[in-house]
Amino acid sequence: MTHCPTCGAPLGAAGASCDYAVPLDRAPGIGKVGRLATGLQTHAEHEVHIARWRVHHPDERGGTPQVNAWARERLALEGHVVPPT
Ligand SMILES: [Zn+2]
Repeated sequence: MTHCPTCGAPLGAAGASCDYAVPLDRAPGIGKVGRLATGLQTHAEHEVHIARWRVHHPDERGGTPQVNAWARERLALEGHVVPPT
């Protein structure tokens, strides 16, 4: 299993593009508020989805230094070190 060097997400195959390197509304696990509400997705999992998308898109949708720092720290908790940009 290979992982995205940017966000640490598992990649289906070597050289595959990352699921999170897409516009926000197409990223996995982000638009599914209903899943969060029904407990099918935990809050922690939701945070990881958001953080992975964020490190691919540091300049979009309110990507302040604080928000970007949060995303890097959140992925570090998952054991992934985001490379410097
Ligand atoms: Zn990625």
